[in-house]
Amino acid sequence: MALDNKIPQGSISSKWTDYKDHIKLVNPANKRNIDVIIVGTGLAGGAAAATLAELGYSVKAFCYQDSPRRAHSIAAQGGINAAKNYAGDGDSIYRLFYDTVKGGDYRAREANVHRLAEVSVNIIDQCVAQGVPLAREYGGLLDNRSFGGTQVSRTFYAKGQTGQQLLLGAYSAMNRQIGRGKIKMYNRHEMLDLVIVDGKARGIIARNLVTGEIERHSAHAVVIATGGYGNVFFLSTNAMGSNVTAAWKAHKRGAYFANPCYTQIHPTCIPVTGDHQSKLTLMSESLRNDGRIWVPKNLEDAQAIREGKKKPTDLAEEDRDYYLERRYPSFGNLVPRDVASRAAKERCDAGFGVNATGEAVYLDFAAAIDRYGKEQARIHHLDENDSKLVYDLGQKVVENKYGNLFQMYYKIVDEDPYKTPMMIYPAVHYTMGGVWVDYNLMTTVEGCYCIGEANFSDHGANRLGASALMQGLADGYFVLPYTIGDYLADDIRTGKISTDLPEFVEAENNVRSMIDHFMNNKGTHSVDYFHKKLGKIMWNKVGMARNEQGLNEAMDEIAALREDFYKNVKVSGIADSFNQELEKALRVADFLELGELFAKDALQREESCGGHFREEHQSVEGEAERDDENFSYVAAWEYKGNPREAVLHKEPLVYENIKMVTRSYK
Ligand SMILES: Cc1cc2nc3c(=O)[nH]c(=O)nc-3n(C[C@H](O)[C@H](O)[C@H](O)COP(=O)(O)OP(=O)(O)OC[C@H]3O[C@@H](n4cnc5c(N)ncnc54)[C@H](O)[C@@H]3O)c2cc1C
Repeated sequence: MALDNKIPQGSISSKWTDYKDHIKLVNPANKRNIDVIIVGTGLAGGAAAATLAELGYSVKAFCYQDSPRRAHSIAAQGGINAAKNYAGDGDSIYRLFYDTVKGGDYRAREANVHRLAEVSVNIIDQCVAQGVPLAREYGGLLDNRSFGGTQVSRTFYAKGQTGQQLLLGAYSAMNRQIGRGKIKMYNRHEMLDLVIVDGKARGIIARNLVTGEIERHSAHAVVIATGGYGNVFFLSTNAMGSNVTAAWKAHKRGAYFANPCYTQIHPTCIPVTGDHQSKLTLMSESLRNDGRIWVPKNLEDAQAIREGKKKPTDLAEEDRDYYLERRYPSFGNLVPRDVASRAAKERCDAGFGVNATGEAVYLDFAAAIDRYGKEQARIHHLDENDSKLVYDLGQKVVENKYGNLFQMYYKIVDEDPYKTPMMIYPAVHYTMGGVWVDYNLMTTVEGCYCIGEANFSDHGANRLGASALMQGLADGYFVLPYTIGDYLADDIRTGKISTDLPEFVEAENNVRSMIDHFMNNKGTHSVDYFHKKLGKIMWNKVGMARNEQGLNEAMDEIAALREDFYKNVKVSGIADSFNQELEKALRVADFLELGELFAKDALQREESCGGHFREEHQSVEGEAERDDENFSYVAAWEYKGNPREAVLHKEPLVYENIKMVTRSYK
């Protein structure tokens, strides 16, 4: 099947505006006869459900938590970008578009990114109208801060709880429609298969996670909004439940999976402490606005710190290596995440790491506390030479900006980050890859759409900070509600889709036999045992740095692990009840397939770009080396019964409005 991305031709600034004026619409009188299933009610799905219901469609929405309010989106801390230019620092739609394409290392689709930049400004208005308490300046205007990979301040935020507040906005909008009967909400329901009738997505099979009942649900279109698959690494900053199952089932039913190997490893996370952990914690990128990243300049100091013989505060300025400021003077600590992560790995690999495992660098606020303290002293006509006073005043400012993040760090690490620098290390955080979608956000299965982190669409090989929320809400509030009409307009006379069709029976049997297998397996190991093993393979061989040998080994090891899993996994409890071990088994089964495709994708991409770093393709200075001549494409994989047999389809990336150059943040 050829990849038709449906991108309109013509000048980029008029693309989305013109395009949306010419797509088919559904007459209001007909909308109530059209059912749309939304799988996932995080920011993207929640926004889409509320908007489609507002437009008049009959929506059925599913999530596996007990409430949409608990979606992973709630974890988003730092902010959401928009090209409003409120800071008056020269921002524009073009700059946001340019930064995002460049940040993604020229592996994103130009037209999608431009559309994202265009609608970014509407998102803020929408959320403010909903009452989302975005931070404001003293004068009452919305405040902005900076995130990595940009030289303007365009990030809107709600302290360190931006995702939570935005999700509450979308959730409130959904609730209004639930109250009106326009959305039927299925909490604690997990989609386990996609049903295709006559080549079109017409429903899903879901398991009621409380009773264990297997249910059939039909609709005229299905929207997958199930978030990212970072938990294929076992340890990540994602919510524990984040998984690939819905996206993977769609893939197995014909939806191509794009760029699975593009993963974002976030530079500022609390380092791994040992094997007992099941989750990693992010320290928001917003901290890089004020925090300075460093390691000791001398190996002896690093070793002394690791052995507990020295403290970071014992080291004089000249004995510290602020390596990002040194290597990238124009962006400094605000280089994009992939660049910052690799630089941290490089220093730790060279022996300069600072915690017991040797895998940590410092994020230090001493300079910011001093700077802000002196400023406050001047403002209040106090003595700026009184170091205690300056410290107290500066700490207050830092606390106002990042207090909840500092508190979180203190609770986890038991060290006061106001007094001693935080220790951070890169961790898996976000997946740029996902289900392939065309410009309308439709997958290669007709009538099956994919939005938010679950699709591949806008971030190329690396996502800039604060742009996932922007994309999720752009897709949910402003793009899908238009584009889905183009497809549904042809369905106004179709009538209800029966769940008695043989395709529903087949899909349900498929799910039942999987569940039967796990419940009757006489295995000896827990699901986590296999998931941890998968995570180790992924991190060691498909993680921050990859090479041909490691990737080949990873594919073999994952295939063998999958076989072992089916033979030896033990799932306790019963199927007809609340059973989290069974839920995990069904999810890990899909991770074990995705992991192999992930490695295969990384193997074929013989270049380094964004979050994908192939050791064979780097400059003498250790910077990523792209190969635009041969790899300027989206890799979209077609399922063929086994991840190893997947067939590669290439969607060429054509840049008409941006010149591809080597990314430089120097
Ligand atoms: C710690 C952290 C901080 C972050 N901070 C920021 C930030 O400051 N700014 C930013 O832009 N981005 C940030 N991100 C990224 C951002 O939070 C996510 O990309 C975004 O929230 C994803 O939203 P989503 O709606 O696509 O998916 P999610 O919020 O993950 O929602 C997925 C939904 O799908 C449902 N679901 C999943 N599988 C199934 C299934 N099989 N059946 C039924 N339902 C299912 C879930 O129940 C849930 O409702 C952060 C990420 C992390 C991990």
